[in-house]
Amino acid sequence: MVTGAGPRIVADETRCVGAGQCVLTAPDLFDQSEDEGTVLVLDDRPGEDVLEAVREAVHICPSGALSLREPRESREPRESREPRES
Ligand code: SF4
Repeated sequence: MVTGAGPRIVADETRCVGAGQCVLTAPDLFDQSEDEGTVLVLDDRPGEDVLEAVREAVHICPSGALSLREPRESREPRESREPRES
């Protein structure tokens, strides 16, 4: 598995109902806590090779606890434009 610089997996444990569909879909990336059974993200920066499985896990999660967040576009501060002297 290759760790990527692409989208980041975000898991909301407060919404997770412990159904385990994510673990079945992408066992290298998800696990469940032993006490609550809620999702544990093992690697929140999935490589390209597993992105499809992650998207599937996000899609089938019955509680909507999983999401993929795209990396922010780098934003350079705009240069201020001084009025031209004539
Ligand atoms: S599929 Fe969703 S509800 Fe089920 S364990 Fe994973 S995150 Fe939690």
